[in-house]
Amino acid sequence: MPGDSLNTNNSAAPVYGTGFSASSKPVPTIDLETDQTDYSAVSTFVILTILGLLMLKNPLFRFIRRKQVGLILNQYDWFYHSILEKNIPYYSKLSFEEQQRFLRRTVAFMKSKRFHYYDMKEEPHVPLLISAAAVQLSFGLKHYLLKEFDTIHVLSGNYRFAGLPVAFEGHVSESDIFISWESFVKSFEDYSDGNNVGLHEMAHALSKVNAGVDTPEDELFAQLFKKFNQIARPVFYEIQTDPYSFLGAYAATNMYEFWAVCVEQFFERPQAFQIHHGRLYEAMTILLNQDPLQPQIILEPIDNE
Ligand SMILES: [Zn+2]
Repeated sequence: MPGDSLNTNNSAAPVYGTGFSASSKPVPTIDLETDQTDYSAVSTFVILTILGLLMLKNPLFRFIRRKQVGLILNQYDWFYHSILEKNIPYYSKLSFEEQQRFLRRTVAFMKSKRFHYYDMKEEPHVPLLISAAAVQLSFGLKHYLLKEFDTIHVLSGNYRFAGLPVAFEGHVSESDIFISWESFVKSFEDYSDGNNVGLHEMAHALSKVNAGVDTPEDELFAQLFKKFNQIARPVFYEIQTDPYSFLGAYAATNMYEFWAVCVEQFFERPQAFQIHHGRLYEAMTILLNQDPLQPQIILEPIDNE
């Protein structure tokens, strides 16, 4: 601000800057040249500091997150591992190293969300398992936090919503994810029927943060999702007239539901999916960078961990 760099040369004519009043007493003069130079130095410093912070922001946040996750896992590693191994078939098939990565991501995801519970008790396995469903879907991607979704609402059973006549197992709004806990548990208890509300809603959330938005959370996924849609659209049209298609009638509702149903089938019935829709299955493996039919599920290593 004016006055930071004053040249106190009393012999010079008074200069009345902001906040100075005219009086007979000599007032310090401002050397405009020196003052401009200093402002420029201050501005440069501020700009460089801001740029530096912006450049550091992501690595810094990642570093802090890793530390926090590490501290939590030091204490709960075995407890969380037991819950995931018992309830998430995908997790139980991973190698030891992949399980460690899965655990880290699940805790990071869980800690980044607020969970609200309705007609049920808050228990540690609930947010852990819901987070695991999101991590399973995005396990081959670089970015997985679904940052736009900061709140997950967990309802004890299926619920009515917006005056609609059907009961919901889950849905996704602009910034919130809603899940019926009863349906979520059933989904993972029967992991071969192609119905999984956890994976289904996370699929909606994942496409929402990446598809058709200016700044996708995962740039690569956003690009590949366009290619996936090119392969998916003809199949979507094809099943409109086939009520007995492998993907089922609900997949024919719209492209949004088609994608979420593909995710359910991809993880729960990969072999049958590949037989019925080979090209579409392959597009899913490329898009998600994983193949449930391969012993080493993740196809390309992820470089930020
Ligand atoms: Zn849906």
